[in-house]
Amino acid sequence: MSRKFNFSAGPSTLPLEVLEQAKAEFVDFKGIGMSLIEASHRGKDYEQVHNESIALFTELLGIPKNYKVLYLGGGATLQFSMVPLNLMAQNKSCDFMVTGIWSKKAAADAKKVGKVNVVYDGAAEKFTSLPKGGLKFDPNAAYVHIASNETIHGVQFQQWPDTGKVPLVVDMSSDIMSRPVPVEKMGLIFAGAQKNLGPAGLTVVVIREDLLEIPNDLTAYLGYKTHATENSLYNTPPVFAIYIFKLVLEWAKKNGGLKGITERNEQKAKLIYDAIDVCPGFYKGPVQKEDRSKMNIVFTLPSEALETELLDLAKKSGMVGLKGHRSIGGCRVSLYNAMPVEGAKALSELMKDFAKKKV
Ligand code: PMP
Repeated sequence: MSRKFNFSAGPSTLPLEVLEQAKAEFVDFKGIGMSLIEASHRGKDYEQVHNESIALFTELLGIPKNYKVLYLGGGATLQFSMVPLNLMAQNKSCDFMVTGIWSKKAAADAKKVGKVNVVYDGAAEKFTSLPKGGLKFDPNAAYVHIASNETIHGVQFQQWPDTGKVPLVVDMSSDIMSRPVPVEKMGLIFAGAQKNLGPAGLTVVVIREDLLEIPNDLTAYLGYKTHATENSLYNTPPVFAIYIFKLVLEWAKKNGGLKGITERNEQKAKLIYDAIDVCPGFYKGPVQKEDRSKMNIVFTLPSEALETELLDLAKKSGMVGLKGHRSIGGCRVSLYNAMPVEGAKALSELMKDFAKKKV
């Protein structure tokens, strides 16, 4: 079998080692006579995977003791509702930085729950840059919401906004575990697993414990407290996704932890941005340099026909998933943790050769 270099934005590439281990133990998990996905989520075999994955994630991301890790369903999109429902249960206002489609969608949902004060809106610049300070956050807001990495527009926060005592809520769906983050400065982090962490179906929430105490009258599943009290076993968790998540974490630890991941991600992003920047008349990266994402790199070519030609050529060379999001067009290179440096090298060479031939 020849595996492709899969640059898709999510679901996306996973480490081959992880897929192979899952395959090897799929039918008979560690000699228990059944697959783990057939085992009870209340049994000791699954519970061990569940608890070890929480411990490993806590260790790798450096999550302080006063935070809880929750495993939920519903995708990151359910968090667009759960965050305001839980955190705005008393204080009916929050601040939003709208830096792309994902924070825009989250703001639209939060508006159904309470007052949303948009402190920054990058729509006028087509979401190609991020603000550098000078924002006025409401000191009485329930929280400030940002998306650390806008998967479609390719902008990524390199510095975290200072929100004072107001909890910072970060949608890290497309860059969680890709670099070190000061978790202690954040009130809540959420991420769909299907980019850096594993398969779709699992959403990870990291929440500071005091935020669990905001009174609300939500139904059981919608309240974070329910999941925190029940160690994310209030109902059946997405057991398959959690099992793969654990394998991904083990792979990450074996490969240098967050430090190793960060180094490889920087190397990969540099390879692609260099290919864009050495051919400035040909490739155009719309995002301001200091706000460029290391996870999702967007660029255009002089014409749609040339874009199609590049994508076809890449496909023939075993590189797929490079079409830009339908809402903005162009090309997008997603370089999640499991993309090997060789993949970025191969694409970078192909891009440079293609430009040379066409200019
Ligand atoms: N936030 C961001 C930054 C995303 O990239 C995505 C999905 N691509 C979402 C939220 C929505 O995630 P889900 O599909 O898991 O609901």
